[in-house]
Amino acid sequence: MEVNGTLMWYYAICSREVWLMSRNIIPDQKDTNIEIGKFIHETSYERSKKEIEFGNVKFDVLLKTKDEMIIGETKKTSKFQEASTMQLLYYLRELKNSGINAKGVLLYPEEKKRVEVKLTEEKILLLEETEKEIETIINNILPPPIIKNKYCKSCGYREYCYA
Ligand code: SF4
Repeated sequence: MEVNGTLMWYYAICSREVWLMSRNIIPDQKDTNIEIGKFIHETSYERSKKEIEFGNVKFDVLLKTKDEMIIGETKKTSKFQEASTMQLLYYLRELKNSGINAKGVLLYPEEKKRVEVKLTEEKILLLEETEKEIETIINNILPPPIIKNKYCKSCGYREYCYA
């Protein structure tokens, strides 16, 4: 499995989840709290007609001129802001590699919050380091150890880790 934006998102939540996902170990589908599902589907508002799609993730194109594009996501909660930011940065870099300069924005109207996400050289380095770490995780024969974190109680792998 290659590093992609979804794994970037998982990495910000739990490295063990990255490994489990990379092995196609399906999280408990009955668990309504599968974090990525929450992020992608349940917390999204109705979308605008202008979208840009990367794999299984879509972003709204909020502004597009001949020089710049702003892509964003409107969410109900900023609970996963760090993960959302890493994922958005990943896609901003993909766009940059395709010759498109873009900025990102995460919108949380219920919290009256707007977070701008810019792809800087520093962030590109962070992405590269994170990619290497994800590659190391998914190339390991064994998953990372269980490290209890704030997402465990709502994780689709909870039974797998704690049964
Ligand atoms: S239950 Fe906790 S340790 Fe296990 S995969 Fe989920 S978040 Fe990671």
